[in-house]
Amino acid sequence: MSKVDRTKENLEKCICMTCPSYAFACKKRSLTSNVILTMVGTDYRIHAEAMFCAYEESHCIDEEKGCICADCEVHKEYQLEKGYFCVAAGGK
Ligand code: SF4
Ligand code: SF4
Repeated sequence: MSKVDRTKENLEKCICMTCPSYAFACKKRSLTSNVILTMVGTDYRIHAEAMFCAYEESHCIDEEKGCICADCEVHKEYQLEKGYFCVAAGGK
């Protein structure tokens, strides 16, 4: 599997926010920081509440309720094999 680049383009393709595992409370908590992330740049950050295949796991999502990574363009482009990148026991 290739290393996923932390680019704005990839972040915009990430569909984690529409995933059933991305709990409503997490969405509410992460919305502002995720918007800021798209504005200020993505490459130097070590954490984001999105694009978990490129960053570390979520600080908020802790339950596996389905993963839609396989439908994501980033997943296809980087030939990722796993999912659940948001949880500690997930992909990578
Ligand atoms: S593969 Fe999953 S974690 Fe990575 S960008 Fe796509 S939806 Fe987000
Ligand atoms: S990594 Fe997979 S399970 Fe986690 S939020 Fe993204 S799509 Fe959902």
